[in-house]
Amino acid sequence: MQMTIPTRKEVIKDLKKQGGLVAAVLPIHYSRALLRAFAIYPVEVWGPPKIDASLGGAHLQPYVCSIVHNALSFLKMGGLNIADLILIPHTCDSLQGLTSVLIDLIKPEQTIIPLYLPRGQREEDVTFLADELRSLYTRLSDLTGKHPTNEDLLAAIKREEMSDLLLAKLYKNRQQMALSNLGFYRLVRSREYLPAEHFSNLAEKNLQTAAKKPPKGIPIILSGILPEPMEVLNIIDEMNGQVVADDLACCGRRLYEPGVSPEPFRRMAERIIYAPPDPTRGNSIEERVKYLTTMAQSNGARGVIFYEVKFCEPELFDLPNLRAALKEQGLASIIIEVDINNSLPRQVATRIGAFLEMLEN
Ligand code: SF4
Repeated sequence: MQMTIPTRKEVIKDLKKQGGLVAAVLPIHYSRALLRAFAIYPVEVWGPPKIDASLGGAHLQPYVCSIVHNALSFLKMGGLNIADLILIPHTCDSLQGLTSVLIDLIKPEQTIIPLYLPRGQREEDVTFLADELRSLYTRLSDLTGKHPTNEDLLAAIKREEMSDLLLAKLYKNRQQMALSNLGFYRLVRSREYLPAEHFSNLAEKNLQTAAKKPPKGIPIILSGILPEPMEVLNIIDEMNGQVVADDLACCGRRLYEPGVSPEPFRRMAERIIYAPPDPTRGNSIEERVKYLTTMAQSNGARGVIFYEVKFCEPELFDLPNLRAALKEQGLASIIIEVDINNSLPRQVATRIGAFLEMLEN
């Protein structure tokens, strides 16, 4: 049975009622702990899907992905008015372009803060990101007048680490929970907007319901940026598929391990730099192949559905080589490209059905 999960709107209303500040945060990687140390609550904006995206079209090329089109349209229609600031990680050229459009042309009331992310896992990448987070600290101090101490930062980091450990536990126990594919992703995606303590509470309650059950459906991995439109998860259920693991930017690629350093900025940086492989953070095809094949072996997955946002360069660029290498390792895959505004055409169900049938035989 699925526990009730509050919606983004309900959470924001509640936070505002308590006088909290809200940061609208665009994809993908940033430090929740740093914002929370300033009593700023991150609420992530992955689109949102299924809105009128025409307002953003005046400032963006048509070949920019629907996440960026939607984010800009949503902002222009007043959907982000509730936010006190907008944080935009430098995930890809499209989000960097959006940052420039906002700062130079649209100039919204909210402060726009970019966050630059290194593309590697070397020592200098950790140092660079730790410095970036220090700069962000200064901006947030200027904005709020607050100066959290190292102890405050570490307390915020530990709270997020605890929440991420529970998120990982949900992943580990997903087959034992009485949740559909859609139910599981509704739960884990609430990490995008619930305060960590609230999410931890919800995760613990769900974990208490876990009971040993036989695996069901044809086991697959879902890869890509996000499972939107989320109907895809119902389609996989209907076609007797079971998502046993994922390589999604909004979910599995953010299963951050606890940091090691006692120095807070370095620890926040470590958590992001050593996260699972992600093309937007510069991981190589070889690293991704190794990660995906290990994931398939340990979860018994028979194939991968690459569920991609149209025009997402970092994802699409890797796919030919990545799929060929996975095929060599005996892991079949399929690509489904979507616009997060459109309902899924029936053809998607047919293709997923045919793919699962092929895996079954
Ligand atoms: S979908 Fe791809 S191109 Fe669009 S914002 Fe995300 S990473 Fe960037």
